[in-house]
Amino acid sequence: MDLGVAGLRVLITAGGAGIGRAMAEAFATGGAKIHLCDIDEAALDDTAAALPGVTTQRCDVSDAAEVDAFFAEGEERLGGLDVLVNNAGISGPTKKVEEIADAEWRQTVAVNLDGQFYCIRKAVPLLRAAGGGSIVNLSSAAGRFGFPLRTPYVATKWAIVGMTKSLAMELGKDKIRVNCLCPGPVDGDRIRRVISAKAEQRGISEAEMEAELLKDVSLNCFVSPQDIANMAVYLASPAGATISGQAISIDGNIE
Ligand code: NAD
Repeated sequence: MDLGVAGLRVLITAGGAGIGRAMAEAFATGGAKIHLCDIDEAALDDTAAALPGVTTQRCDVSDAAEVDAFFAEGEERLGGLDVLVNNAGISGPTKKVEEIADAEWRQTVAVNLDGQFYCIRKAVPLLRAAGGGSIVNLSSAAGRFGFPLRTPYVATKWAIVGMTKSLAMELGKDKIRVNCLCPGPVDGDRIRRVISAKAEQRGISEAEMEAELLKDVSLNCFVSPQDIANMAVYLASPAGATISGQAISIDGNIE
């Protein structure tokens, strides 16, 4: 389906792999102009080679100065901004709360929450100058439910829902839509790492842990990175012009 995103100017964080890479592929397929960042230079090189026309830059979103540089180069390369996909996020520790070190807590908040804030405050003036646009923040099913042993991650993902709703209200007058996506477990390396860490914590097998993760999913499936990317494209497109302030689940219906 052609949603009419050709020519849209899109910045994507953590676009070198996983969901961010799928976002880049989906927007590129629709003919959008993309500049993306990641901390993994090999992944950036791979993405640039696979997606001709997409430009890349090394940037750690938890570092405000690096985010400023990402936006400066992005604005120059794209000639403005219509869409920000605030995708970068890390799993954080899988530990009992009393075992979590300060540095682990800080790092999870720094990447998952500070990083989105740093990007949004740079994006807003550019989106305003464009006459409006779309911000898509990555939250998670962990932004709707509690998950024992994942407190830092869950806390940041609930915070993203609150940030999204507040900013949608604040920026609506500028025709800037702000939504967040709440994916369920996405198939890929990341969920394999989480399953493995949780299984070890619980003293059960990885197969048992996987079955337990899926038992509350009505459609009994993981979701694909493409499912998430398609929703981001939809929200950024004219079809999503009146959708703002929403936390949209893409999770096979976690009950
Ligand atoms: P991932 O672990 O596959 O990582 C994707 C990319 O992020 C990697 O290339 C990595 O180098 C980059 N990255 C890591 N830290 C960074 C930083 N500080 N600055 C810039 N880039 C950085 O991640 P993913 O599974 O694709 O998840 C993307 C987003 O979706 C995250 O916000 C995550 O919380 C959210 N999410 C993922 C799942 C899932 O099951 N995978 C479920 C719900 C929500």
